[in-house]
Amino acid sequence: KEWCLAIPKIELHAHLNGCIRDSTLLELAEVLGERGEIVFDDVKHVINKYGRTLTECFQLFDLFHILATDHETISRITKEAVEDFAAENVVYLELRTTPKNNETKGMTKRSYLKAVINGLRSVESVNVSFINPNGRTESFYDPLQKGGLTVLEKKRIYVRLLLSIDRRETTAAAMETVSLALEMRELGVVGIDLSGNPIVGEWNSFFPALKYAKEMGLPITLHCGEVANKKEIQAMLDFCPERIGHACFLEDDDWEKAILLKIPIEICLTSNLRTERLSSIDLHHFGKLFKAKHPLVLCTDDTGLFSTSLSNEYHLAATTFGLDKESILQLSTNAIHYVFADNELKKTLREIFQAYDKRLV
Ligand code: 5GP
Repeated sequence: KEWCLAIPKIELHAHLNGCIRDSTLLELAEVLGERGEIVFDDVKHVINKYGRTLTECFQLFDLFHILATDHETISRITKEAVEDFAAENVVYLELRTTPKNNETKGMTKRSYLKAVINGLRSVESVNVSFINPNGRTESFYDPLQKGGLTVLEKKRIYVRLLLSIDRRETTAAAMETVSLALEMRELGVVGIDLSGNPIVGEWNSFFPALKYAKEMGLPITLHCGEVANKKEIQAMLDFCPERIGHACFLEDDDWEKAILLKIPIEICLTSNLRTERLSSIDLHHFGKLFKAKHPLVLCTDDTGLFSTSLSNEYHLAATTFGLDKESILQLSTNAIHYVFADNELKKTLREIFQAYDKRLV
């Protein structure tokens, strides 16, 4: 387990609001409870529950969105999520989030995203390499100003953003998210995700926005096959996304297509187990895909919601599927191929992995 923590890792499937620390959630809930906006004890019970169905998870997300609605809180949870991933030796993080309009808080999709970016800027305990307005990758942290640890003594994490389209959204709202992503490319937005409750919404209503994103050269990842929906799974694979997440309910002919197209799969073991996508972890499709050398990347999905971490996911894969240290390190290194960031950053990531002390293997 310690070894899985020590190796450099890449996280490509993490939802911001699913990564809120339990302690932060409880703190936010307490404040709203005091204001009489929610009943704290009810919320506490839901937050502390272990093992939820997929439906219960989406009910919980609605609660998260009540707790974390103002700009200040969005910045805070972003900062904390980045700190937590860096502490896990995640060297590159693609953090995804759904930009939200919320009139009562004076929030637009654009101001939501700016709050996320402000959160990245506010991280001090680790070096966050992001993109500044003139397009150069830079660290936000200035040791001369803040004192304390110097840049060299601190961990460095590269962070990029994916904007999520929620399946509940209208075509126009999805289009607005894609336009925002295009506008914010200079600020580190590298792609689009389609997520949200898989039993809600129709492929045809997201398709125009996704097609537009594709035409504009934005890489796309889709939550695909979280429930059995053959028609949608086929449409998604025919769309040829750059990556897909979960892929729990693909049938043999779907797998044939995914394998032929070499579509990288974001594997979220704990999430799939906890939301009862499969009866036992050793039956997870990771096993056969790993053997077939299909492009895979281990991810957390929602560290807070599922009480997991990326090193925990690597450890789980290693113990369940009997992977040795070399295979695990190879798995984490291979993720470089599937990141949405540019080739220059991929080169930097290769150097980071090469520099890693292989004597630990
Ligand atoms: P946010 O986008 O608000 O930062 O992160 C929470 C949102 O991510 C949820 O409301 C939901 O739309 C999406 N999400 C998180 N985990 C899952 C998951 O396991 N499956 C799907 N389909 N969507 C998810």
